[in-house]
Amino acid sequence: MVSSLNSWFTIPEDSDFSIYNLPFGIYSDENVKHHVCSAIGDYIIDLYELESADVFDINRSVFDKQFLNDFIELGKPITNKVREKLQNLLCDSNSVLKTNESLYNHVFKKQSAVKMLMPVKVGDYTDFYSSIDHATNVGTMFRDPANALLPNWKHLPVGYHGRASSICVSGHSFHRPQGQQKPADADLPVYGLSKLLDIELETAFIIGKSTEMGDSITTANAQEHIFGMVLFNDWSARDIQTWEYVPLGPFLAKNFASTISPWVVTIEALEPFRVKGYEQEPKLLPYLQYQGNKNIDINLEVYLTPQGGTENKICTSNYKYMYYTMEQQLAHHTVNGCNVNVGDMMASGTISGPQAHEYGSMLELTWRGTKPIKLNDGTERKFVNDNDTITIKGFCQKDEVRVGFGECTATLLPAK
Ligand code: MN
Repeated sequence: MVSSLNSWFTIPEDSDFSIYNLPFGIYSDENVKHHVCSAIGDYIIDLYELESADVFDINRSVFDKQFLNDFIELGKPITNKVREKLQNLLCDSNSVLKTNESLYNHVFKKQSAVKMLMPVKVGDYTDFYSSIDHATNVGTMFRDPANALLPNWKHLPVGYHGRASSICVSGHSFHRPQGQQKPADADLPVYGLSKLLDIELETAFIIGKSTEMGDSITTANAQEHIFGMVLFNDWSARDIQTWEYVPLGPFLAKNFASTISPWVVTIEALEPFRVKGYEQEPKLLPYLQYQGNKNIDINLEVYLTPQGGTENKICTSNYKYMYYTMEQQLAHHTVNGCNVNVGDMMASGTISGPQAHEYGSMLELTWRGTKPIKLNDGTERKFVNDNDTITIKGFCQKDEVRVGFGECTATLLPAK
């Protein structure tokens, strides 16, 4: 049960940024190069300006940074206190934030009037493959429907080390990649434009506490190391991937662009939406076992908007369909002593549900292009066309409590 909170600030009922959320991000505008901020309703809250009133009792320079990393480094006892204090200020109608007009005017800015920047400096990025419906669909399409999952799949959360340099914040655009492919009917590979440009509906979590080499994180203490989550689109060139991925996994099919949402929703804000995870059979090795409800009920949606057109919802999925939890992914990632650092990003893998409209990639939604998606302008899509914009949205809802992520959006431009 979430205890009911009432804010004096006007918050639209369907806002992702309710009093229960208070995510963290970095913004800029004509006067501010980069400040740490939070969000409430349609507004951002400039935490650097707010700390001029000394409400958090911390050195305000940590809010005048390009990235959240230094703030996150302060540790959860402090970052959670900042979030809780902010919640109190927004609920207490006698608080300095409400009564000091000059402070109020400096702190609140319309979200539509600012630009959100990359929230964290990502040191290392890992992508998992932890949705059983996705792994089953892909195995069915490309291998053997009777043995869709590879022998390791139900024993460990499969993952690979990705590329951090090309992770961009929502609102960017990028060019259709080119590369080496081997058409099914050709003897030799060719070089050219990727024709099968796809999306992957994912979320990612951000490491909030570093470890030393040699240390492992357990499923029981994993949450201490998870600062929060963002939406994640792992853009994928399927034709490049098919040819290159054996035996070491994705490389150039994935590293040209990934998109994240700008607001880091804290794991504490998501706690009320925890749900029971999958029954994991066969039984996992002890280091992967866990107690309690560790999945999260996060509604996920994907929209495709053609240039000059209107949005088409092409997928409705949910984070709760994940077979492996974040805690298991982190325990597995570090079981060999691999160290993690604040700001590292760990993506879920494509999140598909059991039904056809819940598939998290166009590869699955169109079943390898055999069932094109009909758009509301009458055109069809097998994969992403030039100048299409893809937007992922995500939110949790339980009774009147809503905590959302905002949008993760990017536009595919024609090849350079
Ligand atoms: Mn992926």
